[in-house]
Amino acid sequence: MNHLIRGVFLKVCCPFAFGFGWLFRIKKWRLQKFMINVNNRLVLNSGPAKVKNLLLLLPHCIQNSDCKIRITRNVYNCEGCGKCIIKDFTQLAKEINLPLFVATGGTIARRIVDDTKSDAIVAVACERDLIGGLIDTYPLPVLGVTNDRPFGPCFNTSVDIEKVKDAIKFFAGKGSA
Ligand code: SF4
Repeated sequence: MNHLIRGVFLKVCCPFAFGFGWLFRIKKWRLQKFMINVNNRLVLNSGPAKVKNLLLLLPHCIQNSDCKIRITRNVYNCEGCGKCIIKDFTQLAKEINLPLFVATGGTIARRIVDDTKSDAIVAVACERDLIGGLIDTYPLPVLGVTNDRPFGPCFNTSVDIEKVKDAIKFFAGKGSA
């Protein structure tokens, strides 16, 4: 039931809410944050479907801007210098054998989801990209974790890895990793 409610929420209520927000000058990021929270709540309260292929998706802006290593084709090109949190994520993904990808945008993210044939996703991104991804990838269950942007948008961002681990643990309890 939560699954259907999530569909109606993402495909009908969210576009409507954006129009409503524009009309009443509600800040877009506030609406997006609210929508991501509702989505996550509905996923967390959903039934016990089995998850076999969980995918962890990170945004490219989480890589240190001075790092010249190309990690979008293979995140394990990371040399683990520790200047950004990619090091921690590669270690985590190796430990639990979890597919980990870094996407430069929504189109690439969608291609990764198709190629990996994932049946659930933990995605890290800004509010705007997350809500777009949630709408696009429905009916796949996706838990979204918003990134931290201490230097402004799209530049040397980070994320609380414990929140990401919690989301992974939730899906792992459904048969994955
Ligand atoms: S941890 Fe990896 S991706 Fe981040 S700056 Fe160092 S080598 Fe580059």
